[in-house]
Amino acid sequence: MIAAGATVASLLVQQRMDPLDNRILVCHALGITRVGLITQSERMLTEDEAQRLGALLQRRLDGEPVAYIVGQREFFGLPFHVGPAVLIPRPDTELLVELALERLPPSGRVLDMGTGSGAIAVALAHSRRDASVTALDVSPAALDVARGNAALNQATVRFLESDWYGAAQGERFDLIVSNPPYIASGDRHLSEGDLRFEPSGALTDHADGLSALRTIVEGAPPHLEAGCWLLMEHGYDQAEAVRALLAAQGYTEVQSWRDLAGIERVSGGRRP
Ligand code: GLN
Repeated sequence: MIAAGATVASLLVQQRMDPLDNRILVCHALGITRVGLITQSERMLTEDEAQRLGALLQRRLDGEPVAYIVGQREFFGLPFHVGPAVLIPRPDTELLVELALERLPPSGRVLDMGTGSGAIAVALAHSRRDASVTALDVSPAALDVARGNAALNQATVRFLESDWYGAAQGERFDLIVSNPPYIASGDRHLSEGDLRFEPSGALTDHADGLSALRTIVEGAPPHLEAGCWLLMEHGYDQAEAVRALLAAQGYTEVQSWRDLAGIERVSGGRRP
């Protein structure tokens, strides 16, 4: 589908591909930067490069997320390795990191539940060298990716293989954050776009969409110091339900915050 001898400039007009995805894949296949797309615009592809790029473009046309094809995605200004064992970090989740940074006390202990690629935990540890960051996940494959991301970003994070609070018995924190699976089973989004390729256990609770959020809220009190915050990302239509879960447990200052699209995306409260 790509001919040897084609110029770099000619590759930028792929009709069937999103232009941004196309640029990312051309850079990846040729090992050049975005600047290289301009400075090397007249360079001609070798047979090898043409084959390599053709294969990458075909994977994208078959629906595979571009982040999995190149094995990387940026989050909070930092590079993260990603693969099919982890959810691809979303820009929406940066809101959760910002809210957490505002609420983490000096030298505070923070717990990230269901860390996946480690995006939240690594971003926190990278921004706050004074914090002690613990991140847990039930998936050993996800924890391998997350450990690699902590190393990649020179962030110190303690990782625990744990089914929610299971392996954190007796531990207490000054902040708990989570971006848990919150899509209800059977939701049509699960069979669309990138989500088809992401681990279902990171996306859906295989129930009403609230069961992981419920487990986190109800299990938090013995692990959270009084007056400290629990912050959770959730779906576009779950803010009210999550606030109700927090209120039912007696949390104070229960509220929700909007993402860049204006959708209530994170809710939280303080442990009484
Ligand atoms: N925000 C993701 C999506 O809707 C879902 C992430 C999650 O379930 N935690 O694609």
